[in-house]
Amino acid sequence: PVENASTQDLIARRNRLLGPAYRLFYEQPVQIVRGDGVWLYDQAGDRYLDAYNNVACVGHCHPRVVEAIARQAAELNTHTRYLHESILNYAERLLATFPAEIGHVMFTCTGSEANDLALRVARTCTGGTGVIVTRTSYHGVTGALAELSPSLGLPEPTAAHVRLVPAPQSAGDATGEIFAGHVRAAFDDMKRSGIRPAALLVDTIFSSDGVFADPPGFLAPAVEAARAAGALFIADEVQPGFGRCGESLWGFARHGVIPDMVTMGKPMGNGHPVAAMAARPALLREFGARSRYFNTFGGNPVSAAAATAVLDIIEQEGLVENAKRTGAYLREKLDALRSRHDLVAEVRGAGLFLGVELRRNGAPAGKEAAALVNALRARHVLISAAGPGANVLKIRPPLVFGTEHADLLVETLNQALLQISPA
Ligand code: PMP
Repeated sequence: PVENASTQDLIARRNRLLGPAYRLFYEQPVQIVRGDGVWLYDQAGDRYLDAYNNVACVGHCHPRVVEAIARQAAELNTHTRYLHESILNYAERLLATFPAEIGHVMFTCTGSEANDLALRVARTCTGGTGVIVTRTSYHGVTGALAELSPSLGLPEPTAAHVRLVPAPQSAGDATGEIFAGHVRAAFDDMKRSGIRPAALLVDTIFSSDGVFADPPGFLAPAVEAARAAGALFIADEVQPGFGRCGESLWGFARHGVIPDMVTMGKPMGNGHPVAAMAARPALLREFGARSRYFNTFGGNPVSAAAATAVLDIIEQEGLVENAKRTGAYLREKLDALRSRHDLVAEVRGAGLFLGVELRRNGAPAGKEAAALVNALRARHVLISAAGPGANVLKIRPPLVFGTEHADLLVETLNQALLQISPA
């Protein structure tokens, strides 16, 4: 049952107007009308702890982001074929956060567009078409990326140029070699079919695969295997990027690898649609010699203002450090749930990007995960679940999450666990 007539009406109108391709979160969808920091408020004024939104990385409706957007919107917003200093100032600052090898950045509006552009560059520069992604990955919404996003749950990609590899499992020191073995075998298979490799494209924290972060460095052998096969390495930082992993701004940095291209989006504008693809200059020299790129809205003055404010706040409020500190605190508390609840099999992640894997008698407990996500929602704490068995609770709050919020989240999760699976 939905909570009230107004929610029911909205669901019916959505179905009627937007059609059947969308999915809402939760058995009782939430209607949010306002956000502030880590809190979301429904139409009745009740508040929900947001432990899921990586987009609002500096907190919902951060006044400095709102002000930056409003001020620039009142002065000028236009397409991106005029000179404007703001995007260059931002590009300088953003590029300074990358290893020196990454020297250019191109702006888009969405993570999908950033990945789509990275694919175009990879295909232009390698002369190949073959791409490897992980088995339950998500990389975007365009036609080219839907084929590379098996987590959409569509039939497995049938395109000849796509190969799926299992996500890196938690296997200690062997993790990197096992993963690289799959990558090597997939490139070999591709070549046997006459397909030239173009890219290895991974989310550097394997979010929709179920969150795999450890041990740091495990990506390095796979990146080496990609390069040995003549492919480029594209780090999809749309989810892990901008400090969430708690050590650096970028998930790939934990692995000691330097990507050929890096894509980013979601948290970049704290909700304003701005995204980007950063690359080694030699690649864009080649791409630029053969192609052109124009994105009407990508990197417009309002987007630059929003993104600049976000970077300022991440730095000035010490949010990378907070992701590390509060993330470690939260992880320890979640880990303590293992001794109290058989269902909780493993807690993993980095910074404020955590996965809690649920298993019942050794098997993925997807039904229980869904029940927990809904029980938490009923208690006004918002999270979701991921992974091939949908049995990994995905916890990914705004980076302004404090220890008091972590306590509330864990205590509510404890209650919800007791509710669905009484001790
Ligand atoms: N890559 C990853 C890892 C993502 O999670 C997403 C969005 N969920 C995208 C790319 C696509 O980004 P967008 O929705 O902004 O197009």
